[in-house]
Amino acid sequence: MAISVVGHANPDTDSVTSAIALATLLNAQGQEATACMQIAAADLNPESTTVLNRFGLAAPEMLSDAAGKEIALVDFSDIAQGPANLDSADVVAVVDHHKIGDITTNNPILFRAEPVGCTGTVLNKMFKEAGVAIPKDVAGGMLAAILSDTVNFKSPTCTEDDKAAVADLKAVAGVEDTEELFMEMLKAKSAVDGVPAKDLLFRDYKDFDMKGNKVGVGQLELATLDQVADIREALIGAMEEVKADGRHTVLLMLTDVVKEGTDLVVLSDDPALIEKAFDTKLDGKSMWIPGMMSRKKQTVPNLQTAFGC
Ligand code: MN
Ligand code: MN
Repeated sequence: MAISVVGHANPDTDSVTSAIALATLLNAQGQEATACMQIAAADLNPESTTVLNRFGLAAPEMLSDAAGKEIALVDFSDIAQGPANLDSADVVAVVDHHKIGDITTNNPILFRAEPVGCTGTVLNKMFKEAGVAIPKDVAGGMLAAILSDTVNFKSPTCTEDDKAAVADLKAVAGVEDTEELFMEMLKAKSAVDGVPAKDLLFRDYKDFDMKGNKVGVGQLELATLDQVADIREALIGAMEEVKADGRHTVLLMLTDVVKEGTDLVVLSDDPALIEKAFDTKLDGKSMWIPGMMSRKKQTVPNLQTAFGC
């Protein structure tokens, strides 16, 4: 029976590419194994789809029920994060980088967990130890997973092992510029193309009561403000519609997560009050506020102070 290699539910890029990588390693070692995931290919997140397309990797097969199967887990070991009936399946291997979960087995198994930033980092070591060359396409997927899980090395979970694995894998995958790869993934994750302006405004939007004034604040996290350059007027049009529905102020935070700041678009009955709230002058309908990333911790408290809440 072929081993089904599967990552956690609601899979991220690491869960997808680690299933591919471990299945590849097992196959190279003479064990029949198939990469799986708990969703259909059409439901993969945009980042993972971009990664698979870029490196020419096939999406793993869908596996929703583990009953009666031999299963290898990657990127998790909690029963709740697995396919249905995982508790009655035959788990034959676990490769992970999280806390140990509640999976149990009846037989000794391959169990490899390390406190590093990504399962791809652990798998890179396993290929090396086994003396198995990583195929170019698989290396690309593993590389992308490490950049994703470690947020391009910025996450506190990132270790020297992750950086060393990236150095190995970029050479095998033929990727010269990992910054460019990370940006492509970030852009896919924050894609706005083809989404109606009103849906973008409401993607992450909240109304607040400020001393009897209704104030709406939306936020779009972007890899670069260029992503919304062409739809800026459409976004302002959507804001005008929402403001006309009884609001004193509607704000849209266009947050550049790379530059770490926000272009704050302002529609208000009292623009001077908003300028005062953020101690910044409006340039047309917006103002650039360096360091502003959080609506909850930065935008709303400043508004409350300005409104006298
Ligand atoms: Mn994961
Ligand atoms: Mn992971």
